[in-house]
Formats: sequence, C-alpha cells, structure tokens
Amino acid sequence: MKKRVLVTGGAGYIGSHTAVELIEAGYDVVVADDLSNAEMTAVEGVRRITGAEVPFVKADCSDPAQLFPIFEQYPVDAVIHFAAFKAVGESVHKPLDYYRNNLSLLITVLEAMRKYGVENIVFSSSCTVYGQADVLPVTEQTPRKEAESPYGNTKKMCEDILRDSVKAYPGLKGIALRYFNPIGAHPSALIGELPRGVPNNLVPYVTQTAAGLREQLSVFGDDYNTPDGSCLRDYIDVVDLARAHVAAIGRMVGGRSKAPYEIFNVGTGRPVSVLELVHTFEKVNGVKVNYKIVGRRAGDIEAVWADTSYANSELGWKAEKSLEETLAGAWNWEKHRRGIE
Ligand code: UDP
Repeated sequence: MKKRVLVTGGAGYIGSHTAVELIEAGYDVVVADDLSNAEMTAVEGVRRITGAEVPFVKADCSDPAQLFPIFEQYPVDAVIHFAAFKAVGESVHKPLDYYRNNLSLLITVLEAMRKYGVENIVFSSSCTVYGQADVLPVTEQTPRKEAESPYGNTKKMCEDILRDSVKAYPGLKGIALRYFNPIGAHPSALIGELPRGVPNNLVPYVTQTAAGLREQLSVFGDDYNTPDGSCLRDYIDVVDLARAHVAAIGRMVGGRSKAPYEIFNVGTGRPVSVLELVHTFEKVNGVKVNYKIVGRRAGDIEAVWADTSYANSELGWKAEKSLEETLAGAWNWEKHRRGIE
C-alpha cells in the first residue's frame, strides 16, 4: 500500500519541491496551503513534473474547522509541516502575528494528528536556532542561542512544542530538520522560489538583478572576520533539501527512528561567502550582477555552516548538487519565469 503524506504549505518554495520528490519516491501526496504567500502555479508545476493528480486543499491549517476535514477526507501516514510565516524582518515589526500564526499552526496540526491517529511529523526548522555559534561548523548538539528575531524564536519554540509532544503522547514521532540556506529551483524550471515584492534573500535578489528587475545588489558588509570579509553561509540546493524530507519520512514510517524526537542538520557542510556566490553565479551563467558593498544588515550572523555527518550517516542522505549546478538552476528558473531567452 502506498503511504500518503500531507504537506502543509505545499504550494510554497520548499513544500512544492518536496511534494515532487515524495511523489517520485512513490508516496501519495495531499497539499494544503492557504496561498497567503504561494501561488497555485506551484501546485500545477508539481502536477506537470510528476504527472500525478496531487489533491490540493486551500486551507488555513491553524483553523481546526479547515484542517480536520482534510484528515477526514485523506487519511495520511505522515505530515510534513511547512506552513508558516517566514520573513525575518517583518517578524520584528509584527511579533504577535508571527507567534500566533506559527505556533498555532503547529499546535493545530499536532491536535489533528492525535485526533486521527497520525504518528509521524517532519517539522521545518532552521539553522537560525544556532544564532552565531561559538564553534563552527555546527552539529545537532551545538547549543541553541537566544533567537535574533521573533521568526527565529517561533522555530525554537515550535521545536520545543514538538519535543514535549512526542514525550507526552505515546506513538507520536517527530523529526525537526534544521535547514541551512535553501536556494535554486527544480531542473525543469517549472517550480522555484516566488518571492513577493523586493526579495529579502540573497539568491532571488541576485537573479532579479541579473534579469534587470533590480538595479543593483547590495552586499551587506565586507568587514566580517571571514576570508573575503563577506558573510559565510551553507547554501543548499532545494531539491537536495526536498530529498532530506523523503529520507526523514522513510525513517519514521520504516520504523528506523532511534528516538521519538530527532533533529538533523540539512546543509552541504560547505561555507560560501556572499561575494563567492555572486562571482560563481556570474561565471556559471555568463551574466553580470551589478553590485555594491554597503554596510552590515542588522541581525546578520557572520558565519554559519553545517556539520552534516550525522544526517549523512543516519538519514542516508547527502546533498549532491554543486553550487555551480544550483546557481545555473536558479538563473534558469528566473529566465523561465520572465520569458528571457
Ligand atoms: N545578503 C546580501 N544582500 C542581499 C541579501 C542578502 O548581501 O540583498 C547576504 C546576507 O547579509 C547574508 C547572506 O546574503 O550574509 C544570506 O542572506 P539571506 O537573507 O539569503 O539568508 P539568511 O542567512 O540571512 O537567512
């Protein structure tokens, strides 16, 4: 019997790529999304890539009246919970919106799982929980630091809600995946990141600058204590990241979890600077990215990258794509969206 997975936030950037990889790995998928920060074109892209029907329900999953009927209609074996607000800067100005939304989403999802006897959940966490770690790269044992933003704090608090829930409710299993910096797009260029308005993240800003939609990229700081002075991050291809979810689901439904609550770092293990990323993008794609160095961005961390050895050995998963391949994919997606040859 095919296993079925509910993907909340499945019309979003990481959710849509994960839906594709799940279907290609032999799972049935149901997508729920309120489309508050996502487009139906992403679901259509998933259907086109996979040739699967992929049921979609427009729903605010923090509302039991909208979420529970999905569990009634589509009995599932597991949930991957992506649905959340994710703009770091906005969260500073609207903390209550972020706490209410992100916490009540997870709580409602866990309540639905209890009610309908669903025992497996993967939660989208973030390397933001490490803050500026004292020792790099970070392992899953690296202590979490005080969050830099309400957004980051919701990730930390949701991890704790999940940890306490699996402790209290027998049978319930959870895996928190701590994402590093997801970038790139599906090689088909049918799905990818769809930022609304001015992008906050580096790679969409780079692709939009290359496409002429933005005049100039601002590189936030070249006076950090790093080899070229710009910040270091661990940029992971979104398809590699999606596959980590498939591995996490397989581990839980296959009974291979070592503990009811587990945490894995999902990165490449390779630190890349902002300037290195921009120059690699230019070289791989043969395009110029107009940029200038400006002051540091408030709240930015100097450097963070993953020790991925635990995820590699335990999940049997490894990031495979090169930075070059990923940045070619990011540009391909931008061109496809904009109709650029
Ligand atoms: N960054 C930049 N210019 C931009 C956006 C980001 O120089 O327009 C830098 C940012 O300072 C950080 C890195 O790119 O060092 C990654 O930022 P992003 O917002 O993509 O992810 P974060 O690591 O902050 O979650």
